[in-house]
Amino acid sequence: MLTVFLLNVNGIMISDVTKSSYAATFTWNAAGLLHAFVDVEQDAYLAYGDRLSASAMTLKTDTDNRYRFNGKERHDWAGYAYIDYGARMYNPVTGSWLSPDPLADKYTSTSPYVFCAGDPVKVVDPDGTELYIYGKRNKEAFEQLQSAVSKKMTLSMDSRGKISYKPTTEKKLHGKAKRLAKIIDDSSIEVKVSAENTQQTKDGKQLLGGAFMGNKVENKNGIQHVVAYQEVNPIFLGKVDEAYGTKGTLMMHEVTEAYEGALISKKEGSNAPPADDSQINKEDSVYNRAHNAATQQPPIYYRQTDVSGKIPSDPKLATRTQYYIIKGGKIIEIEKRENPLNQ
Ligand SMILES: [Zn+2]
Repeated sequence: MLTVFLLNVNGIMISDVTKSSYAATFTWNAAGLLHAFVDVEQDAYLAYGDRLSASAMTLKTDTDNRYRFNGKERHDWAGYAYIDYGARMYNPVTGSWLSPDPLADKYTSTSPYVFCAGDPVKVVDPDGTELYIYGKRNKEAFEQLQSAVSKKMTLSMDSRGKISYKPTTEKKLHGKAKRLAKIIDDSSIEVKVSAENTQQTKDGKQLLGGAFMGNKVENKNGIQHVVAYQEVNPIFLGKVDEAYGTKGTLMMHEVTEAYEGALISKKEGSNAPPADDSQINKEDSVYNRAHNAATQQPPIYYRQTDVSGKIPSDPKLATRTQYYIIKGGKIIEIEKRENPLNQ
């Protein structure tokens, strides 16, 4: 799953100068677009490090503390009222959604895997190879994955979406290539990635670029076998990749997240549910552990406005969400979605 940081009026202000290497101030013009920014410093840690520590994400000084936490404090700045939604901003893990999923109740009794029943996951596994990418956009997802490891291995995908690889070097694989090879080779874990250009997961939740859809531990002839599900939107992920100049980094995160989740479930012998709000907010959920163990991805920021173009006093009133990345001191908009978080 993508980690998304809320961009408040002053942007993300990361303090604790000893730890942080990043401080930025953003202002927005009346149209709600980026107007100016100053004092931007950035290093590789932040650019690739979605795992900012809580302390690194807290705000600069006590005087800035108005912006901190618990989401209720209101600010008037440049004629706008802003609300800091706080906790979610400095807990990257919970950074995704501002309001409870209105559909959540509907799905509590549903097995996380039910979506597959409605999906012709043409993916039986007769021969033990363990990574599949299917869906209408599996070609893009495949290409992104290939670009993440292009110097080390050549990937191929058959008509069922089954991925295999061939090293292009005699040298021992390391880094992302090594991780991907392990996923493909591990016959005890099957990773199924559904790739569609959609804003919703198959169980009706918000999908930005990637979603952890849980996994299922099976017993096959006395041998434990885990099937892990991930849903991705390669179009969104591709735009982020493009803007950052990262190659397949986001897709790599999604694939390794599914796999890491399956490793945990295999060890514990029980299924993992998809990353809904309750899982996201639970620090030791399989999802959170998997997300942390996955390859890192660069951060994405978002900002919500209401019909008048202002940041609403209640996030539920937001009608538009804009997603950004920050690179070299510049804010680059990735996508705008109408009322996406509150559907
Ligand atoms: Zn993730």
